[in-house]
Formats: sequence, C-alpha cells, structure tokens
Amino acid sequence: MLGELEMVKAVLSGSRRTVVLTGAGISVESGVPTFRGRDGSWKNYRPEDLARPDAFEARPELVWEFYNWRRESLRESEPNAAHLALAEMERKKNNFLLITQNVDGLHCRAGSRKIMEMHGSLWQIKCTKCTHAREDFSPLPPMPECPVCGHLLRPGVVWFGEPLIPGVLRVAIDEINKSDVFLAVETSSLAQPAASFYQLAKDHGAVTVEINREPTPISGFMDFALHGKASDILPELMAGLSE
Ligand code: NAD
Ligand code: ZN
Repeated sequence: MLGELEMVKAVLSGSRRTVVLTGAGISVESGVPTFRGRDGSWKNYRPEDLARPDAFEARPELVWEFYNWRRESLRESEPNAAHLALAEMERKKNNFLLITQNVDGLHCRAGSRKIMEMHGSLWQIKCTKCTHAREDFSPLPPMPECPVCGHLLRPGVVWFGEPLIPGVLRVAIDEINKSDVFLAVETSSLAQPAASFYQLAKDHGAVTVEINREPTPISGFMDFALHGKASDILPELMAGLSE
C-alpha cells in the first residue's frame, strides 16, 4: 500500500491546477520568527500588538523600530529547502499559484514568480497620506518621510484588522475555485480569509493537503495531512515528480 506521502506525490503529479498557501512557519528555519510561536516576541512586545494600525497611530516610532529591525534581520536570512522546493514546483507545473501570508520576501528570493503576497511585503513602503509607494531594500531612517508630500511613510504590509489589498481576495478565490489540488503549508490556518481557503477548495472538489510540523485546527478536514518539517517533506514530494 502506498504511504501518505506517495499518495500526495501521485495526486500532485496528476494535478492540472495547483494552488499552494504558505504561512509564517515556512520561514522559521530561515531564522524568521512567527508571531504566535514561542520566539515571537520583540523587546517584550507581542508582535500582534505592534502590527496594527492603532499601534502605528499611537507610537509610529516604536512600530517603525520593529519593522526596521525585521528588515535588517532578514538580510541575514536565506530561503530554505521548503522555499526552494516551491520555486521548483512552479517550474514543473503549468498552472500554478503560490499564495503567501508571509511578508519576508523569501519566496521571491528562492525564485518563485507566480506568487501573490497576500499581506504585502516588508520591502514595500507606502505613504500614509498620498499614493506614493515603492519597493525599497535599503536601510531606512527611524521615521521615513514621503519624498512627494513629506508625510510619514509606513510599511507596505497588511496589519491585523486591515482589509486586504483590493483585488487580492478575488484573484485568490478565482484561482482556488479552478484548482484541483490545494496545499496548505506551515500555516496555522487561524487568520481569515486564509482559514476559509481550504473549505473553498474542498467545496469545489480539489484534493486538500496540509503540510505542517504539528496538527492544526484544520488537519481533520484535509484529505491528507503530512506532519513534519516542510523543508523535509516538500523536497521529498518534488523528488521524481513528473512534469
Ligand atoms: P501563521 O499561521 O502564518 O504561522 C504559524 C505557523 O508556524 C504554524 O504552521 C506553526 O505550526 C508554525 N510555528 C509556530 N511556531 C513555530 C516555531 N517556533 N517553530 C517552527 N514553526 C512554528 O501565523 P502567525 O505567525 O501568527 O502570523 C500572522 C501574520 O503575520 C502572517 O499571516 C503574516 O502576515 C505575518 N507574519 C509574517 C512572517 C513572515 O513573513 N515570515 C512572520 C510572522 C508573521
Ligand atoms: Zn506622500
């Protein structure tokens, strides 16, 4: 009898439209902490208390210090085997979309191009007042100002309680509705709307697969739940995957 991993490999080999959703867990091995995990706090603040519009309003300097620290820490991080395996999956599958909740840019650095960064990116910055927005990898001052209007800039990420970037949800839903395999990788699936994506995939008849180091609230609903490190499992899935 085939093991679960072999069965998922067979499903993936036959897939004509693959959608993958990733979360913060995939970057832990690259040295990027999750928010809710045990190494998540920064200077005794809980990141969930800083990654919010009201925190930025009340203490912009503190929130920028947190984001500048995250940007600088990322310079020492490299994509890991899981990021690389997903970039390879994109090259092997014709219809493929990677939807990530991560803002670290590591998927792009691993070579992923068919990617939707649902929550924006730490490398994007935008004006709090006008439409100025840009990608910027350089070190930023403590309170960066807009070159157009002089107002304060903010990180180009979606904070807790903020709506998604317009259009993002529609494209994600469209792609999931068309998919025949939906893979949730290293996400706790607690945050909406990502938490409902697997349901959408299931409703439309896609095979649902979870890859996570520990069981999550959605494990029982998935067709397959592979528990282990994505950096072990994804390369194994890719090994010998037919194109
Ligand atoms: P999440 O669901 O994206 O990540 C949690 C995942 O990480 C789970 O799969 C869990 O099993 C795993 N995990 C938790 N602690 C771990 C540990 N110590 N070691 C290894 N794996 C661990 O949720 P979140 O972290 O609460 O993030 C919320 C939001 O904040 C994200 O959607 C994202 O927008 C942002 N965020 C991004 C990054 C990043 O870009 N790398 C990191 C943290 C938070
Ligand atoms: Zn401006």
